[in-house]
Amino acid sequence: MGENRGVPAGTALPKGEALLHDPLLNKGTAFTLAEREALDLRGLLPPNVHTIEEQLARVMDNYRHKSTDLERYIHLVSLQDRNETLFYRLVTDHIEEMMPIIYTPTVGQACQQWGHLFRRPRGMYLSWNDRGLIKDILRDWPNPDVRVIVVTDGERILGLGDQGVGGMGIPVGKLSLYTACAGIDPAKTLPIMLDVGTENEGYRRDPLYMGLRQHRVRGAPYDAFVAEFVEAVHQAYPKALIQFEDFGNQNAFRLLEQWREKVCTFNDDIQGTAAVTLSGLYSAQRLTGKKLADQTVLFLGAGEAGIGIGDLIASAMVDEGMDLATARKRCWFVDTKGLVVKSRTDLAPHKLRFAHDAPPVGDLLAAIRTVRPTALVGVSTMPKAFNRQVVEEMSQRNPRPILFALSNPTSKSECSAEEAYTWSKGKAIFASGSPFPPFVLEGKTYVPGQGNNSYIFPGVGLGVVAAQARHVTDRMFAAAARTLASLVLESDLEMGRIYPALTRIREVSAHIGAAVAEVAFQDGLAGIPRPADVKAMVKAEMWEPKYRDYA
Ligand code: NAD
Repeated sequence: MGENRGVPAGTALPKGEALLHDPLLNKGTAFTLAEREALDLRGLLPPNVHTIEEQLARVMDNYRHKSTDLERYIHLVSLQDRNETLFYRLVTDHIEEMMPIIYTPTVGQACQQWGHLFRRPRGMYLSWNDRGLIKDILRDWPNPDVRVIVVTDGERILGLGDQGVGGMGIPVGKLSLYTACAGIDPAKTLPIMLDVGTENEGYRRDPLYMGLRQHRVRGAPYDAFVAEFVEAVHQAYPKALIQFEDFGNQNAFRLLEQWREKVCTFNDDIQGTAAVTLSGLYSAQRLTGKKLADQTVLFLGAGEAGIGIGDLIASAMVDEGMDLATARKRCWFVDTKGLVVKSRTDLAPHKLRFAHDAPPVGDLLAAIRTVRPTALVGVSTMPKAFNRQVVEEMSQRNPRPILFALSNPTSKSECSAEEAYTWSKGKAIFASGSPFPPFVLEGKTYVPGQGNNSYIFPGVGLGVVAAQARHVTDRMFAAAARTLASLVLESDLEMGRIYPALTRIREVSAHIGAAVAEVAFQDGLAGIPRPADVKAMVKAEMWEPKYRDYA
């Protein structure tokens, strides 16, 4: 793996300036004297040769001198654009510190200021004006062996709404996590922005905005554009996994249904979120003593994340022997109009399967009194919706109330870790979407877990790539959820954390990759024969951020 990364087979290694400006191949001051001689680099670099450790010390020193997270983001992305090996070594070594910079919450600020921060392009921008030409445009991408694509149309970025072309920060960030967390070779990744316009008037009026200044294309023309894209990708890169990311929910569910059986695709907001949350419920079992089948889950927010989680919980309950109708009745939803119940006539199609018989109820507190949940999951983008009364109500009803405040970024979180622990008097089993710092209550330190999709999607992608799976299935996500929960240590649980430490993420991804590949082999979805040792095959697929010897 990785032997020819960045250099398509049969292509000569670039030399001189061209080599220094290829971020996949560049080693900067770490080029040895022999390499400098052989590759026409003498005179183009200062004379001293540095080790990667010395280079890391320099970039880390610069990083520490930045005064805001956004400046740190710019520093890291600039490094990525110069020297990917060094960037990934840095991020891998400091994953807990840097994940919130290259991904949520800081990436959200970057998306909001994309046109103002822009340095150089990364990935591909396909706009509505390119319709009819996508197949040809994809040929401009230099790497012929793309295996993982993350694509967005920028309509629903984190909990920040329509960011138009600035949404590109998300595919770029997610693919960085694929490499940092699961060792997907960066040469085989491709971030894509589908620009069909934006409803954000501020951006349309901003002279520095870089996308199309038009309202979003909708309906049949939009679907035809996405279809042209998916078909062109499938033709150009038949082994590529296409991850749909941060599409508006009126499109996300439909596109998933339309494409999941035809190509190798999944939607992380729906399925990845579901798996990480289901895993949190499995781990919480060890603290509450209650089985999954004993849980009643109330969601605040009935969008992609909420419905996706509800579907996966229901299918996991079915796997444990419950019938589907009963399993769905364990999941209840509150949306902007109140409790989702059968008598309502205003429900979008994706909510109907969770509309149960109950009197209409207007607010979350009343819904808790009606539904009597054991777990509350916030996926509403409604900051502070889990207020003191809500947390106290949950705590009175449950010895260990499960409170997941998953809305991103931090400013949208339904409650903070401090609020959850304080108002529940330390009883809450808490997880959040964006990270919260450790918190001390009455002498005990709580380390809140982050229900971060990064525990799931990189490992799922790794398993899919390694097994060359033709489709991504719910069984794969359920296997990923169980595997993740199995890796939580007693010491994690003792400090209140229902996920493994992020520092173990590569090990976690390798385990998840093996579990997902195993499902692909069992279900006849793999593109290669099953090797004797699936875990070893998956590990061998993982790219390491180490310099290659060119001399
Ligand atoms: P979405 O737009 O599809 O859904 C949001 C839902 O919340 C909609 O149904 C909306 O009607 C509802 N809502 C809005 N205001 C509300 C209110 N006041 N009361 C009740 N419901 C309200 O978005 P999504 O993809 O479901 O994401 C929702 C949030 O979850 C985002 O902030 C996103 O960043 C976060 N999220 C977190 C994770 C994670 O932590 N792992 C993963 C995915 C999404």
